[in-house]
Amino acid sequence: MSDTDTDTDTESNSRDPTSLRTPIVAVLGHVDHGKTSLLDKIRGSAVIEGEAGAITQHIGATAVPLDIISTIAGDLVDPDDFDLPGLLFIDTPGHHSFTTLRSRGGALADIAILVVDVNDGFQPQTLEALDILKRSQTPFIVAANKIDTVPGWNVNEDMPINATYDAQSDRVSSRLDESLYKIIGNLSDEGFSADLYWRVQNFQRNVGVVPVSAMTGEGVPDLLAVMMGLSQRYMKEEMEIDVTGPGVGTVLEVKEEKGFGKTVDIVLYDGTIRADDTVVVGGQNDPIVTEVRALLQPRPLAEIRTESRFEKVDEVGAAAGIKVAAPDLGDAMAGAPVRVVRNRSLDEVVHEVRAELADIAVDTADEGVVVKADTLGSLEAMADALDEAEVPIVRAEVGDVAPRDISVASTAEDSKQQAILGFNVDTLSDAERRAESDDVKIFTDQVIYQLIEEYEEYVEDLEKAQQDTIL
Ligand code: GDP
Repeated sequence: MSDTDTDTDTESNSRDPTSLRTPIVAVLGHVDHGKTSLLDKIRGSAVIEGEAGAITQHIGATAVPLDIISTIAGDLVDPDDFDLPGLLFIDTPGHHSFTTLRSRGGALADIAILVVDVNDGFQPQTLEALDILKRSQTPFIVAANKIDTVPGWNVNEDMPINATYDAQSDRVSSRLDESLYKIIGNLSDEGFSADLYWRVQNFQRNVGVVPVSAMTGEGVPDLLAVMMGLSQRYMKEEMEIDVTGPGVGTVLEVKEEKGFGKTVDIVLYDGTIRADDTVVVGGQNDPIVTEVRALLQPRPLAEIRTESRFEKVDEVGAAAGIKVAAPDLGDAMAGAPVRVVRNRSLDEVVHEVRAELADIAVDTADEGVVVKADTLGSLEAMADALDEAEVPIVRAEVGDVAPRDISVASTAEDSKQQAILGFNVDTLSDAERRAESDDVKIFTDQVIYQLIEEYEEYVEDLEKAQQDTIL
């Protein structure tokens, strides 16, 4: 930074940095394209660069503070240029967790990294992830991963982020070039204007493609720099929060925890939550009103042997991942909203949570298939996909396939609607038996498009068989 910038910098320092929250980042992409490895690499680099304790422990997420990002990214991220506190990475990769992490009116994640294997290119889950990103209007960056497997990768490590690409240079080998341009072409086929990141001027309008290796770490500094730049330049307003305001979050997971009973892991994206707060949590039937018994964060690994896995904290501010222990959480649903009741009437907050749940609720028809899913977000994603496939839904619920689902499905007049589509859920054994005797077909899968494909094939066979009998 030049001396002439100093004045403006002093001014910017007068802003209260604690009122800007950390952008929440999710990692999506096809299976085996390197989502977990990339997250591990980022986390690992952060741990190596950070002094002990610099990385805050979170439930379900890893916070990488700005100073560590800047150490990893070197010249690419000058901490003086940023006032956002860092990046919060959601630990579970995949679009399943992305759809679970839903905030009012959209995705909870502020930015996504779409991982694409440069050898494998676009695959079904890449397309599915793109679809979800498109619908939720989440800005994203493509990490073109596994560049170490393509011979001739020769990017100049010092290449500044806004360098213009020199076609005469041998910065990228032709084979890698081909793979990268194929990815850019595929993105364009899906309606996204994309380019190699160093040629992108506006990361909000254009998708930047960053060649990386989750194995060697090459390109990771550039990826971090692009994400920080995108957040700082285009998303700062969304990061402004009232740090003393009542906490607002989303349930990531509902978990039994020894000594605490049912707990909820939440991602807090606004305000604060305190150990003595009253909270309203979205439940299977009605909003749950309860008192926080403890706020728990994971203990550093070294301390775990002697004590509980968790450490109690008095207060947490957004953005953060935290475990909430409270009575009566048995009915809490993954993907449901969590709101702290503070400075407002309980009625008002309950009303808001109820409205938000209704907002997420899937529209059902008089006739159709039964849909079950593990979280509200995935139920919504299933409903959207079925709507596109023109398959009506008679009942949509979070939870495993249960006998009462069979009862509903068995009453369908159309035999192709005597079916249950379960996404990421199990079938209770009673239900399995009932399904057999009641002639109800149950389809379960962990991939939405596969689940729908399976069902469509079944319908096709059924229709063929019916036609054969008519003929
Ligand atoms: P995920 O299913 O998307 O989470 O993929 P993983 O992170 O589990 O990676 C799948 C496989 O690809 C693993 O065997 C990784 O070691 C390997 N892999 C991931 N990233 C890279 C990379 O950058 N280079 C190479 N050579 N292998 C990678």
